[in-house]
Amino acid sequence: MDRKNVIELLQDLVRIPSVNPFGDPGTAETGEGKIAGYIADYLRDCGADVEIRDVEPGRPNVIGLFTPARADRAIALGPHMDTVSIEGMTIDPFSAEIRGGKLYGRGSVDTKGSMAAFLDAVSRVVCTKEFAEGGLGIAFCALMGEESGNDGVRALVEEGFSPDFAVVGEPTGNRIVYTHKGALWIQVATHGRTAHGSMPERGESAIGKMAEVIRELLGPYAADLRAKSAKTLGAPTVNIGVIKGGSQTNIVPSCCMIDIDRRTIPGEYHEDVIREISDRLADYAPEINMIRDCPPLYTDPRNEFVRGLCSVIGEDALIGAPWFCDAGIFSEHGIPAVAFGPGDGTMCHTPDEYIEIDQVLENANLMERFLLSAIRDAFR
Ligand SMILES: [Zn+2]
Repeated sequence: MDRKNVIELLQDLVRIPSVNPFGDPGTAETGEGKIAGYIADYLRDCGADVEIRDVEPGRPNVIGLFTPARADRAIALGPHMDTVSIEGMTIDPFSAEIRGGKLYGRGSVDTKGSMAAFLDAVSRVVCTKEFAEGGLGIAFCALMGEESGNDGVRALVEEGFSPDFAVVGEPTGNRIVYTHKGALWIQVATHGRTAHGSMPERGESAIGKMAEVIRELLGPYAADLRAKSAKTLGAPTVNIGVIKGGSQTNIVPSCCMIDIDRRTIPGEYHEDVIREISDRLADYAPEINMIRDCPPLYTDPRNEFVRGLCSVIGEDALIGAPWFCDAGIFSEHGIPAVAFGPGDGTMCHTPDEYIEIDQVLENANLMERFLLSAIRDAFR
């Protein structure tokens, strides 16, 4: 690991805004275009074949391929480039100021720390003799749009990209997330019949129906979910995050809607979950629409690449996570994947986001050792 290179990379990356434009980004400088150019240049300097592929106009994935002559297997490193909004931040989001061993700024922990560590590790590994003579290719995939729908990784796997293993960069405290929950976000609307508020018996209240829907979801349905359980991850959950309905105090409401955040565990399929919810709510004839989904992740801890990671980090490094990330999409497409990266996940999306520099340096070191060990194992 090259300490100076890692820190310079991280500062440069934080200083280039790459805010996801979805929702209220809090700045006019959105999108991954500019940071993609920086990463592409770095990868080219390391000798990669680099492609910048637009997923949306001006919002590309960057793919840098390092392919030794005898390569018969490939590993993908996939940190995302976008960050969440800078709205409400209490520090300068793009200063990359270093204080007390921490580097501050939007994206520092989620997930430019991983990006910097992986870039440093790759640049060192690909100039070794072992890499040039080995059988393992490396695909560095800097992905767009993770924060708003995993759009970058979806586009990549739908193009037919199929490495043998993928390491997604997310702040896991340098531990290995081999299983995480999925997320299924759905909107449920109830419909009624409007009438004057002084004669509610002439109408049908959509809010009244929704009250029944909510009672069912947070009562018996949530209790049924608590009875299920996955090893490591615990039970699936349901949360109602948004409610909207009615227009005026003196009008019987004709429409009410809620957003449901259903967190799933491995073995639950999202089409089945939607069917299960619609069956339970059938009496209220709601309209059900999916807003977003990311499947749960489960990668066999006995996978040879996971073994390789464990051999450099330690057997107790395998953990599960309640959140979801691009690893779920790789895994859904048959690519064994884990999330692994520096930093404390609870700092994600916070008003004073920072990352501990020692974590980033340690990650660069671990990633370098892991890649070298994977190259050696590919000889066999
Ligand atoms: Zn992230």
